[in-house]
Amino acid sequence: MDPISQLGRGLRAGLDSDTAFSSIVPPIYLGTNYAFPSLENEPDYGYSRSENPTRDLLGEAIATLEGGSQGVITSSGLSALNLCFTALVPAGGRIIAPHDCYGGTWRLLNHLAERGNFTVDYVNETDPGALDEALARPTDLVLIETPSNPLLRIVDLQPTVEKVHAAGALALADNTFCSPMRQRPIEFGADIVAHSTTKFINGHSDVVGGAVVANNAELGEKLAFWANVLGLTAGAFDSWLVLRGLRTLDARVRVHDANAAEIVDVLTRHSAVQAVYYPGLPDHPGHEIARRQQHGFGSMITFEVAGGFEGASAFCRGLQVFDIAESLGGIESLVAHPATMTHASMTPEAQLAAGITPAMLRLSVGIEPAGDLVADIRAGLDRVLEVVQHG
Ligand code: PLP
Repeated sequence: MDPISQLGRGLRAGLDSDTAFSSIVPPIYLGTNYAFPSLENEPDYGYSRSENPTRDLLGEAIATLEGGSQGVITSSGLSALNLCFTALVPAGGRIIAPHDCYGGTWRLLNHLAERGNFTVDYVNETDPGALDEALARPTDLVLIETPSNPLLRIVDLQPTVEKVHAAGALALADNTFCSPMRQRPIEFGADIVAHSTTKFINGHSDVVGGAVVANNAELGEKLAFWANVLGLTAGAFDSWLVLRGLRTLDARVRVHDANAAEIVDVLTRHSAVQAVYYPGLPDHPGHEIARRQQHGFGSMITFEVAGGFEGASAFCRGLQVFDIAESLGGIESLVAHPATMTHASMTPEAQLAAGITPAMLRLSVGIEPAGDLVADIRAGLDRVLEVVQHG
């Protein structure tokens, strides 16, 4: 039996592998090209767009953590998704995507569909009837985001993937919100997992990156082939930074989640809050599914305040610890206004269909001292009440 767990192997990928000087952490291979021993013999590594030792270590680490066969490391989360759409969907094919997917994914799908690459249909994937109806027409790929962004809706992975497979399509799960610490979609049958490593996996808000993990070697090789063809593989330095960030993923996530639980407690008790969307709450419609398929409920919290946009604005004005910023999953706490920030590329109709309102705010809870975060949230909510009561 392997004395090191799957988690330990993933987090330690590449440590103690330096054959030149026994450096504990692996060196960075920044070189773009490698010498051939002779015209008759190709080296293991030839050109860094195609393969790079540092990037390959990151691919191995994320594939190990996800329980997949091979990891392909890309220049962003969107390039990871673009790779899947281009490599796995035939010309004129069809994709089903969640109606409340990340706004950038929505924009990418629509623009590629407008060019005639494929057709795309948006479905509320938490509604089994709606998904059945959509799958009745020929489908090549179904993108799943669970929890979804920003409503944190939960898709029941196993039965959903079974339906997707029965319809002859591939199931691609965007696991950015959970990271492999909290959810491993391949265990529930997903064919491919995609990540924006910009978020929890790197965790330090200093690299934009992506990853794709396939559940079998054939699919993995196809994705690696297309990543090279399309030229969307990540650089060595970025890969090294993400590998460094990933080493603390397990420890970070535990603090993120503990802080999030304290903040949810404040939100659910404050009269300025009209709704809290958090899968850890027993009245969240996906609570039981999240308990089953996730290890922890995560540190993304979405809520609506009284007073509409004015209320949301008052909350954000004067925050001391939370920064108003896009993105998520870093060590620092952030608040975003989905309607005007992360999901601004959606039309007002699409925002409405997804349930995004002007009063909605999304928190990415960091790992700062919990007391500081709670005080900042309380003060923000008190400002909302002032606006509502006194205008
Ligand atoms: N998928 C999800 C769920 C996201 O939230 C994001 C970015 O916010 C992306 C994909 C895109 O990732 P990137 O910004 O690294 O291209």
